[in-house]
This record gives sequence, C-alpha cells and structure tokens, in this order.
Amino acid sequence: MKVGFVGWRGMVGSVLMERMTAEKDFDLIESVFFSTSSPGAAAPRLGKGDPVLRDANDIDALRGCDTIITCQGGDYTKAVYPQLRAAGWTGYWVDAASTLRMADDAVLILDPVNMPVITKALAAGTRNYIGGNCTVSLMMLAIDGLLKADLVEWVTAMTYQAASGAGAPNMRELLAQMGHVHAMTRDLLADPKSAILDIDRKVNEALRGPGLPKQEFGLPLAGSLIPWIADDMGNGVSKEEWKGSAECNKILGKPPMGQPGSVVVEGLCVRIGAMRCHSQALTIKLKHDLPMGEIERMIGAAHRWVKLVPNTKEASMCDLSPAAVSGTMDIPIGRLRKLAMGAGRHGGEYLSAFTVGDQLLWGAAEPLRRMLRILVKESA
Ligand code: NAP
Repeated sequence: MKVGFVGWRGMVGSVLMERMTAEKDFDLIESVFFSTSSPGAAAPRLGKGDPVLRDANDIDALRGCDTIITCQGGDYTKAVYPQLRAAGWTGYWVDAASTLRMADDAVLILDPVNMPVITKALAAGTRNYIGGNCTVSLMMLAIDGLLKADLVEWVTAMTYQAASGAGAPNMRELLAQMGHVHAMTRDLLADPKSAILDIDRKVNEALRGPGLPKQEFGLPLAGSLIPWIADDMGNGVSKEEWKGSAECNKILGKPPMGQPGSVVVEGLCVRIGAMRCHSQALTIKLKHDLPMGEIERMIGAAHRWVKLVPNTKEASMCDLSPAAVSGTMDIPIGRLRKLAMGAGRHGGEYLSAFTVGDQLLWGAAEPLRRMLRILVKESA
C-alpha cells in the first residue's frame, strides 16, 4: 500500500511518526511524504519510499497514493480533500482534523471501542476515516466496558484539559507564563522570611500585568484556568462540549443525542495548566444498578490499555495524574464509587469516576496509525 503523509512534522504528526516507528508500521507500506512549505526537500528517512518531499497541494501527486493520512489541519482538508475526490481519487482518507467528522460518508475511528462500526463501514465501501476529538476518545476508552455493555444512560464529563489540545505554541506559552510568574516572585521566594501574601500579590500582578505572554491563550493559564474551550455555539454550550455528545454517539454508530437509542453526554470543558494529558471527572448514570465489583470488572476488562485504579488516596494520587500518565498509552480510571444521590429510590445507579489520558497519543495519533494497520490488513 502506498501511503501519503501530510502534516507529519506538526505536533500530532510527530507523535504519529514516533508511534509508527516504534510499532514498525513503515515496514508494511511504501511511504510518500508531502509538505505545504518545502516540497523538493529531502523526505524523512522512515521506511521505504520516496526520498523527496512532494507538494501537499499537488492533486496529481496525492492521487498516486492508496491512502492519505493527514495531520495538517482543517484548512488543508477543506481546501484539498474536495479537489482530490473531484479528480476521481477513490483511496482512503485518514484525517486528524475535525472538518469531515460529522459527514455522512465519514466514520470516526477508535477501534478498541468501535471496531464493529469500522468493519461495517469498510464492507460498505466507506473511504473516509477520521480521528475523533481527543477528550471524547479518551473518555470513551476509559468507560468502554460500560459502553459495550450498553449500561450508560448518561454521562457528564467535567474536564481538565491540557495546553497541547490548543497547539504547540500554546504549550510553549504555558511554560513562558510559568517562567514569568516565577521571575516576578524570585526574590521574595528566595527569602524564607517573606510574607506569603506579598508573594501572592506579586503573582496576581504578574498574571494581570502587561508583561505576561498571552498571545495564544489571550489569558493567564499558568496559576489559573480557562473555563471555555473552542467556539461559542450560541446556546451556552462550547463547541468542545458539543463534540462530547455528537462524536460519542457517532463513534458508537448510535443516533444523535436526544433520539431514542443515543447516549446523553454532557459536561463543562475547562483548560488547565497541564502539558499534554487531559483529565476528566465523570458522573455516570447507569441504566440499572450493578454491584461495584461487577462494574470494576467490566471497566478493567474492556481492552488492554485501560487500567483500573483502586479508589484509595495513595493509588489515586500516584496513578491518576497528568504527570504519571504523560507519554504513556495507559488509560487509568479510578475514583469509582456509587454516589449519594443514588442511594435512595433509584438504588446505586449513579457512579463517579476520574480518568486521565495522553491527548496526543490516544487522543490524536494512535487511532490514525491503528486505522492504517486495519487498512493494510484489509487490502492484503
Ligand atoms: P501543527 O503542529 O500546527 O502542525 C501542522 C503543520 O504546520 C505541520 O504539518 C507543518 O506543515 C506546519 N508547520 C509550520 N511551522 C511548523 C513548525 N515550526 N513545526 C512543525 N510544523 C510546522 O498542528 P497539530 O497541532 O499537530 O494539529 C494538526 C491537526 O490535528 C489539526 O487539525 C488539529 O485540530 C488536529 N488534532 C489536534 C490535536 C491536538 O491535540 N493538538 C488532537 C486531535 C486532532 P508543513 O510541514 O507542510 O510545513
């Protein structure tokens, strides 16, 4: 299979290249690397393939690929994808951008969760396979056991989302903000006798003052948080929150939220000062009560990446944080307990959970490389 890569040197693309190299995916394909900025330069030496970077806007060059994987972004997809199909290209389009996610002829890919949906789509001749929103994918991987058992009536996700979800410049800006706040308080911190309220005052001055680097976020994120992510849908819901319900149901192959047979997904999405791991506090309403041991068994047995964390102080603090999970494929889920609002008439259907995941791995790159494996197998 001849596979074209667009967006391979961006943040998601670089993680994809790392994972594909680690899993020896390049051994299975012939690669062509494309660039929007430097066609003609040397291509990365990954596996066998074209040694020269091709122009990512050259429709004829793209048409020569059986599969195109793009992490270039939504503007690129909007501009190039329709031209490519109009030119008669019938290859597989695998995309990290959100542009085509809700299109009728596109399937959202998260194979540990929705392999039957992918298999059905392949059999039906579907050609567009799109990675889902990072927060949605990570939540679904964490509670896959409950979703597979069709036990979830509704779930709310209160998120703690990392800077990486906003892009590489935002990750840099978070660190620059941390550095600025530290620089403004360094002298007071060095003096053990300085008053903590003086330090706090300086921190506030730093966060609210003109010297704070905030070109990307527009606001302080270090030492603060941002309780709105992405566009305003005009009804009190952010685009990031809307994706929770829209994408979760589409990933599962269910009807849109509100229609019979759909899962209700609600929540508030909040940006915090983590680098690349999204965390989420979930409240889950089960369709019926089950013993806690049974719930834990279902969650823990769903797939090999989910890790059940005992609901103890030590285990939660040690295993359920961005610092512990960053750079790993693990999807830990813990803080599982029956909630007090379910103790009366309804029994124990209300469940709490807390989960963390690397949003550049399972949240972005991994579903793409796994889809490529599925396509390679399909066309063998
Ligand atoms: P990105 O880092 O901005 O990279 C996109 C492209 O920018 C690169 O492929 C590269 O194209 C160009 N570029 C310009 N200057 C660069 C530099 N200094 N270093 C590297 N590349 C540079 O984009 P991204 O954050 O990976 O996002 C790509 C897509 O994935 C977007 O549609 C995004 O919405 C989606 N996505 C992102 C996340 C996330 O967490 N960030 C999660 C899921 C999906 P050329 O090589 O052609 O110049």
